[in-house]
Amino acid sequence: MPTARAFAVSSPTARFAPITIPRRDPGPTDVAFAIHHCGLCHSDLHTARGEWPGTVYPCVPGHELVGVVTAVGAKVTRFAVGDKVGVGCMVDSCRTCRACQAGLEQYCETHGTVFTYNSPDAHQPGHRTYGGYSTAIVVDEAFVLRMPANLDLAAAAPLLCAGITTFSPLRTWGAGPGTRVGVVGLGGLGHMAVKLAHAMGAHTTLFTTSAGKVADGQRLGADRVVVSKDAAAMAEVRPEFDLIIDTVAAAHNLDAYLQLLARDGTLCVVGAPPTPHPSPNTGLLIFGRRRLAGSLIGGIPETQAMLDFCGAHGIVSDVERIGPEDLDRAYDRMVASDVKYRFVLDLPQA
Ligand SMILES: [Zn+2]
Ligand SMILES: [Zn+2]
Repeated sequence: MPTARAFAVSSPTARFAPITIPRRDPGPTDVAFAIHHCGLCHSDLHTARGEWPGTVYPCVPGHELVGVVTAVGAKVTRFAVGDKVGVGCMVDSCRTCRACQAGLEQYCETHGTVFTYNSPDAHQPGHRTYGGYSTAIVVDEAFVLRMPANLDLAAAAPLLCAGITTFSPLRTWGAGPGTRVGVVGLGGLGHMAVKLAHAMGAHTTLFTTSAGKVADGQRLGADRVVVSKDAAAMAEVRPEFDLIIDTVAAAHNLDAYLQLLARDGTLCVVGAPPTPHPSPNTGLLIFGRRRLAGSLIGGIPETQAMLDFCGAHGIVSDVERIGPEDLDRAYDRMVASDVKYRFVLDLPQA
């Protein structure tokens, strides 16, 4: 049985430590690759620290992994040794339900989605799936993405969660030339939403609580930045938005943004707060036929479309690269929102 070096936590309060994990022998449709970089997502932190129910330890997080193919199974047709590839939040699903058949594996109706970490691993009974804070992985080719050759591999890693999580609702609700898009929050997700909405041709407004982020918002592509703590500035914003993507993962008043939607506009939440948002005023939905929606990452075909879009437009994440010894400190800084705008872990190469 092949193994990989990984960086794991053994309890909600433990620090990261190196361990050896099993990785299966590549089957006929499997792709094995050396992981070079892995983005750090807030979901990793919530899972590792036991802030969401169900973490099984040892836990190896990471679902923004990129690297280079080292072996392929006999029936693999789409990848070859040496290819630059990535894996996002999922490594398998039931593949037969309506959602999977539609390429929307993240909404698998049989609860058959296998997430990249902390899911039961059918290939290795008794083990959970182990994520990208590791040196190698084996994944069925149906869940492997092709990384655009022109993008810096480390900076492209966060596209696999932060990128697709914002790209999918932008595409679903038609962001493009002639539309007005708002983005709430300038963190890992928000900074990707601003870049992508701008590249799609939408007039893009960033809402941030921090006056210190105005210049950064403009640099990332926002046509306008509104400091949401400034009541006078908020009062000047007209109800003009076709789509607002709310990336804030803390409970807050959604009415402040619902009332900024144009008729038929959509407020889409993509952050997962630990406690629910206060119930919105449904009158704001009725008057204006507005929608409040949510969206979860994106399916495999859409994730490849997102990567191809980013390749064509030269879009990557703004990243700060770290080594395994920095993981605990990086998590503490993520809690303090002290990162511009995504940490990426460099994995040691054998
Ligand atoms: Zn994520
Ligand atoms: Zn399914």
